Amino acid sequence: MAVQTVASTTDTAASPVDLGPAAALSCRECGHRVPLGPVFACQECFGPLEIAYDFSAHDTEELRKRIEAGPANIWRYAPLLPVPADVATKPNLNPGWTKLVKADNLARELGVTGGLFVKDDSGNPTHSFKDRVVAQALEAARAFGFTTLSCSSTGNLAGAVGAAAARAGFRSCVFIPHDLEQGKVVMAAVYGGELVGIEGNYDDVNRFCSELIGDPAGEGWGFVNVNLRPYYAEGSKTLAYEICEQLGWRLPDQIVVPIASGSQLTKIDKGLQELIGLGLVEDRPYKIFGAQAEGCSPVSTAYKAGHDVVRPQKPNTIAKSLAIGNPADGPYVLDIARRTGGAVEDVTDEQVVDAIKLLARTEGIFAETAGGVTVGVTRKLIENGLLDPAKTTVVLNTGDGLKTLDAVAGTGLTATIRPTLDSFREAGLA
Ligand SMILES: *Cc1c(COP(=O)(O)O)cnc(C)c1O
Ligand SMILES: [Zn+2]
Repeated sequence: MAVQTVASTTDTAASPVDLGPAAALSCRECGHRVPLGPVFACQECFGPLEIAYDFSAHDTEELRKRIEAGPANIWRYAPLLPVPADVATKPNLNPGWTKLVKADNLARELGVTGGLFVKDDSGNPTHSFKDRVVAQALEAARAFGFTTLSCSSTGNLAGAVGAAAARAGFRSCVFIPHDLEQGKVVMAAVYGGELVGIEGNYDDVNRFCSELIGDPAGEGWGFVNVNLRPYYAEGSKTLAYEICEQLGWRLPDQIVVPIASGSQLTKIDKGLQELIGLGLVEDRPYKIFGAQAEGCSPVSTAYKAGHDVVRPQKPNTIAKSLAIGNPADGPYVLDIARRTGGAVEDVTDEQVVDAIKLLARTEGIFAETAGGVTVGVTRKLIENGLLDPAKTTVVLNTGDGLKTLDAVAGTGLTATIRPTLDSFREAGLA
């Protein structure tokens, strides 16, 4: 079994390393614990491993002060992350601390009265939220002695890995479906690493990487979202931390999160729970909503049908960054949406495009298709009464519209005129 091969061949490479406050890897299904290492699946039950911390030594007010005095990037939360980077000596892109935009114009348009915010992660170094997760995986790769960074990607991750590897002096070799948007391909290739298109969809790419990881050809490779996945995934917690800190150390009432593999959504929930446990925010109910495109909606389909199991789909949507037909964390997303009183909803490609334009027109934020999915789903959730417009709501924009220009092709010139005032008047613009 590929999973076991990985666990045993890497045990020797993974000599004990100092990884900050991370105490161990713990199985999400059965709780079995193993020492920190580049492993991702439980040897007992094949469940996913995640980082278990010992935060018991933290004094709440001291921790808050330390965070507030920290750098304006994810490393301000170093005491809560698995692999604190020594940013003074180790090159890292240092993403995070992106803007939380108070979106009053969009709120008016959607009828939200309780405060609407857009967490705009297009402001990261490679213009998507993926820089957060890669920053964690890179530091883990360094600690475990890997020299090549790799991943299976729907586009944004490829760029984030390429850039992080370039900065840190790693080789990178990343794998994407062969038919991604041109903007994503260029953004991934420009950093000079190897970029390989695979004839197939993301789920095929992912399966290929799982094989490569168990093969001698993949030895010494850190796959950020496979054998480094427990560390990678923790990067998403920083979104939850930042949102609460930027709201004045307060939980939002509602968060709308896009779903590809579902990792981001599950770790946002983990981050909020940690802040509550640490006493950094007051414990009150919050709801997490998941957003998908109708053309790749395995999680929302399961949610609406009342199922616990997510049935894989073949993706067909313009929201390619979210086009994972067999999402690894799908069942956990269902748990979280149900436990918190949220929901999972989907929108059509046409609604995605409308929502991209709505966000741009109201707030001056140009989102990629994933942002269109989240804003579109927010609108739909308000219309069908699932999201309370009187409550504080945070919507994630996880990527930059410049990478998915095709989605809004046809948006262009208002008029073409001669360089004369007459011509300007004739065009009805005066
Ligand atoms: C990868 C990605 C997501 C979601 O990722 P998960 O796999 O669910 O963690 C959301 N938005 C964008 C733009 C992405 O690239
Ligand atoms: Zn287990």
